[in-house]
Amino acid sequence: MRALITGGAGFIGSHLAEALLARGVEVDIIDDLSTGSMANIDHLKPQRNFHYTIDTILNCPLMAELIDRCDIVYHLAAAVGVRLIVESPVRTISTNIRGTEICLNMASKKGKKVVLASTSEVYGKSDKVPFSEDDDLVLGPTVKSRWSYACSKAIDEFLALAYHREGKLPVVICRLFNIVGPRQTGRYGMVFPRLIWQALHGEDVTVYGTGKQTRSFLFVADLIRVFLMLLDLPQAEGQVINIGSDNEISIEDLAKKIVAQTGSSSRITHMRYEQAYEEGFEDMGRRAANIAKLRRLMEFSPSVDVEEMIRRTAEYLKTHRC
Ligand code: UDP
Repeated sequence: MRALITGGAGFIGSHLAEALLARGVEVDIIDDLSTGSMANIDHLKPQRNFHYTIDTILNCPLMAELIDRCDIVYHLAAAVGVRLIVESPVRTISTNIRGTEICLNMASKKGKKVVLASTSEVYGKSDKVPFSEDDDLVLGPTVKSRWSYACSKAIDEFLALAYHREGKLPVVICRLFNIVGPRQTGRYGMVFPRLIWQALHGEDVTVYGTGKQTRSFLFVADLIRVFLMLLDLPQAEGQVINIGSDNEISIEDLAKKIVAQTGSSSRITHMRYEQAYEEGFEDMGRRAANIAKLRRLMEFSPSVDVEEMIRRTAEYLKTHRC
């Protein structure tokens, strides 16, 4: 068995590469290092079954060759992080839509299975929490660049479902909810590593808006368990599946826990969204996953609580840059 991971030098991709190699799967990764880093995969390079290519997924001949070689594609390469999306909307739209189309098209031609990473961001401003896969998507106006991410990922989902229906492409669409853990960078938004880094360095811990907004975090190892189970789960093909947790926490409470747990002397300060991102920035009030569908497909429960996520991420950030 051979797997291709697009975005394999990223936070999630590098954990997945590790887990697949441990299972005896031969792993190819492709990454343009835009948000991923060599440091995430340095420890994998000595393994005989690990192969890496530093290039863009928009390179069609290369993608054709890589997809040809593998049995399954984990398509994780995407422009992610609210800051990156607001600052580089062209790149977000182009990478997310063209990159995914290339990947799906080639996998379809060659009859290879695809696991597509989508995002809970597609639910947008919906207040029907927890979110279920068949719920309506509620997005903001096109003049607010944040929504280009949700929209581009929604197009990816439409495309994947279209290839499944028309071309019988075996594809599983995973909507990931706020995955956290070691190697996640805080450079492009991402509250978890940012706040932990700030607390560890005695900097102000920046809560945006009121801090009453909630998120439900899932530890990366739990996601990787799901990804491994998808290697051989034909019932999941053609499905959209939430992968996350229904355990909500407000950002204000998260900040307090982080400061307390790290024994930090940092102050918790509030920052207006306009200051943090852009004028008129819209945030989501609440976000939690309904994971009933995932549980029907496989045995799954989030196994790591928020305190443990903070502990393990802080441990990593004590010796690595955010
Ligand atoms: N956030 C924050 N301080 C930060 C970074 C983010 O308060 O330094 C907030 C952000 O406004 C949002 C939540 O934390 O309400 C989660 O943000 P993140 O960018 O991690 O993920 P997303 O908004 O995509 O869920």
